[in-house]
Amino acid sequence: MNEIRYCKKCGCELMSTNKKKLCENCRRNKNGTIRKISGAAGSALGLAGFVLFRKAKKK
Ligand SMILES: [Zn+2]
Repeated sequence: MNEIRYCKKCGCELMSTNKKKLCENCRRNKNGTIRKISGAAGSALGLAGFVLFRKAKKK
């Protein structure tokens, strides 16, 4: 059972200890992207909340 697996994203060889489908590099990139997206979503939500708050105050 020493099957060589490759990263789903960049195709580089995965370490036998790596249980994931992506190499360390791609996983790190993916995590970075997720963090960026959640950060953007968080600030968008914050802005939406701010606008709603302003609207509610105007009434
Ligand atoms: Zn990769």
